[in-house]
Amino acid sequence: MDNWQELEHKYYMQTFYRAPITIVKGQGAKVWDDKGKEYLDFVAGWAVNSLGHCHPAVVKAVTEQAATLIQTSNNFYTIPQLNLAKLLIDNSCLDRIFFCNSGTEASEGAVKLARRYGKLKLKGAYEVITATGSFHGRTLAMVSASGQSKYQEPYTPLPTGFVNVEYNNPKAIKVAITDKTCAVMLEPIQGESGVNVPDAGYLKEVRKICDEAGILLILDEIQTGIGRTGKLFAYEHFGIEPDIITLAKGLASGVPIGAFMAKESASVFAKGEHGSTFGGNPLACAAGYATMKFILDNHISEHAAAMGKYLIKGLEKLKAKHSIIQGYRGCGLLMALDFKADIAKELVSNCLSEGLLLNAVKPNALRFMPSLNITEADIDGALSKLDNVLTHSESAGV
Ligand code: PLP
Repeated sequence: MDNWQELEHKYYMQTFYRAPITIVKGQGAKVWDDKGKEYLDFVAGWAVNSLGHCHPAVVKAVTEQAATLIQTSNNFYTIPQLNLAKLLIDNSCLDRIFFCNSGTEASEGAVKLARRYGKLKLKGAYEVITATGSFHGRTLAMVSASGQSKYQEPYTPLPTGFVNVEYNNPKAIKVAITDKTCAVMLEPIQGESGVNVPDAGYLKEVRKICDEAGILLILDEIQTGIGRTGKLFAYEHFGIEPDIITLAKGLASGVPIGAFMAKESASVFAKGEHGSTFGGNPLACAAGYATMKFILDNHISEHAAAMGKYLIKGLEKLKAKHSIIQGYRGCGLLMALDFKADIAKELVSNCLSEGLLLNAVKPNALRFMPSLNITEADIDGALSKLDNVLTHSESAGV
């Protein structure tokens, strides 16, 4: 057998912190490595495999579409694209959609749309206010938009036009708005920087501030959208309607896709002003349609909400047993468990040996982002493995 990890060290750019396993197969909430070891997957392709690995509805749609039509170009109308567009629009507060291939491209597209809006309706305003701790993607502009210096410093000078202000502080947004501002862009819950849930009134207040200033509110729902937080879109928790949202990750259960959606009033692109070769191609959209249809028909967002509550009950039991646990936070199936010490990396590594995939979202916090159709039995299984790991580290004096 080839040593895949040696090949990676030799041939691949050394940019990923990879766990030392090579995954070869996935089914439902489980994956297997090349040595046949089984793992419960609570990372789910980084909050991507909404319906678990290789869900029959997605496999069927991809297989049939691959044998029918994979790619044309956006010069032509294609049916899977329009089916998915209608399903997303009919089930959201937005009116128009554009498909792309990833989250960062969706964020870029949303910012381009906001800048176009600024040029046409706000006397050339172009600046976008974003939050500290935010993550909007890896292109140069989205690195500039994301309020985290660790992603920014290696690439300075960065594209201009972004102002990073404190998250969960509406006043900070209010004072940052000038006649150059065209939009505010926020994650309804910050995923990558630690599952940071804002105060209940935050987004409502921001919506009001944007309305008063006549600027757009963009919500980055790349991680929180498509049922992840227990509602189809996270904005539904906060009693507001955004002008633009971005989607990717869970939309096609693992087939690469991104999208941004806008209210009619903000849909200001004219022909030729934005585009994509692959964006919205029949294969990705067939996977997206199968995923979305299954989620809607089978009330998977509601299931995610119920499983989120079940997970919390289990985390509470763990907290009662292990004094190193500080607490938990999150919404639906996007949860973080905090510890009183920086042990998250070590726990992830020990959970891996135990057959459980988790993410250390912060030095002192684990993130849970399993598939949305996860069962109580799999949650019990994951928490029992974590319990074992915590018991071992306690007896080892960690
Ligand atoms: N926005 C948010 C909120 C994300 O969580 C991510 C990825 O983690 C992105 C944007 C970037 O998405 P992608 O990696 O598909 O470009």
